[in-house]
Amino acid sequence: MIRTISVVMVVLMVSTCIESPTTNPAHAQTAGPTRWAIAIHGGAGGDPSKWNDEKRSARREGLEAALTIGRDLLAGGGSALDAVEAVIRSMEDNASFNAGRGAVLTKEGNAELDASIMDGRTRACGAIAGVTTIKNPISTARLVMTETKHVLLAGPGADAFAASQNVPLVDPKYFLSRRPGRSNSSTDTGQDPHFGTVGCVALDSAGNLAAGTSTGGTAKKLPGRVGDSPIVGAGTFADNASCAVSGTGVGEEYIRNAVAYDISAQMLYAGLSLESAVTEVMTERLKPGIGGLICVSHDGQIVMQHNTPGMSCGAADSGGRFETQLVLDNGGRPESNDAADDLPVAGHTDDADETAIRRLIDRQADAWNAGDIDRFMDAYWKNERLTFVSGGNVTRGWDSTRDRYRQRYPDQEAMGSVAFSDLEFLRLDDDAFQVLGVWTLKRDDEDLGGRFTLVFRRQPEGWRIVHDHTSVQNPQ
Ligand code: ASP
Repeated sequence: MIRTISVVMVVLMVSTCIESPTTNPAHAQTAGPTRWAIAIHGGAGGDPSKWNDEKRSARREGLEAALTIGRDLLAGGGSALDAVEAVIRSMEDNASFNAGRGAVLTKEGNAELDASIMDGRTRACGAIAGVTTIKNPISTARLVMTETKHVLLAGPGADAFAASQNVPLVDPKYFLSRRPGRSNSSTDTGQDPHFGTVGCVALDSAGNLAAGTSTGGTAKKLPGRVGDSPIVGAGTFADNASCAVSGTGVGEEYIRNAVAYDISAQMLYAGLSLESAVTEVMTERLKPGIGGLICVSHDGQIVMQHNTPGMSCGAADSGGRFETQLVLDNGGRPESNDAADDLPVAGHTDDADETAIRRLIDRQADAWNAGDIDRFMDAYWKNERLTFVSGGNVTRGWDSTRDRYRQRYPDQEAMGSVAFSDLEFLRLDDDAFQVLGVWTLKRDDEDLGGRFTLVFRRQPEGWRIVHDHTSVQNPQ
């Protein structure tokens, strides 16, 4: 009997520390002193050590000026939304950045600007795309949010809307000005086509989050091309229950992966910390060299990461932090478990694949301990060729494995709580790992334990268990 039960349990595998799911943000705010936090970016891309001094200092000064505006606003009790708008306006007016005045040009040599803003309190949002005459796209995006029932206006209609709102308009030539350290010709940026977009995320002292992003897009883009910056959920997202996010990089990849929303969803649905969610996206979903993210969580944690050689960015908070950078150490990723106090895995290493598998195992245990067999099954290869071996018996296929679990573990009491330890990773090839480990299961009436061997293969949807062999320590 015990053997039969434990056989099934072993499939569970491994987990050591499980993060608690995001809790009530209002509680988080009232538990400590009033706090605010802000992060900004001025684009991810090439290596700043290869820039000339003029360009480096222009970028640094632009970041510092923008961050100062945001810090002063928030420290004075201003709203996150106002801070985001004011910070981005300042960078739009600074030709060192690829937004507003310094926007890069299309293949045909024109500027087509995109921007979006989101209010984490209500999930209200506004965006404009492909505009050609608006001096500060972020402010018009905010007007789309507050003055229309729409979310996104594009092209001539968006320019006309801006005119109707009496916002400052400019001759398109305004965007053709030169900026420090580089020319503004459409042939200038071929080496570094994704650079200089601006963004801001903020938490105000009332506990509200906001996010915004503004860009000229990618250099030499096709006329009409729209990137992720004005797409809520891709380049920008804010929700008071989780976090505020602004991205920069290859917009098409951010759209394909719904990056900004995914960070929030991982916090809410998988219970990940902001740092774990960002690390996962930057190391697993996005290929190296794609871009960066700035985020702030509902409880004021700031996370900034990039997988490009550099990202202009800055952060400030009510604890006195105020810093700007052109490159983050290790791309902003935690160096070790010590550095990330809530990474959901033990023995974190720099091997991104190993880390991904550890997280998968951790989430699987989390699901089990929450009584959710369906979510637990997500780690398995959804294929008829999945094999699960235990006590000399073979169960074949994802459906049969799930049915077996459901039958043997009809409720949470039967499932008990599982923990995993002593994981040993053996890479078999680029796309396969063998993982050995020890499992223990506690239930009201008995404690169980044993060993397991898992084989993981990289599938198009991510790492999945393709084979699971489990055994019991002391079968009775
Ligand atoms: N994400 C922007 C876009 O694809 C560009 C960038 O961030 O550099 O339009």
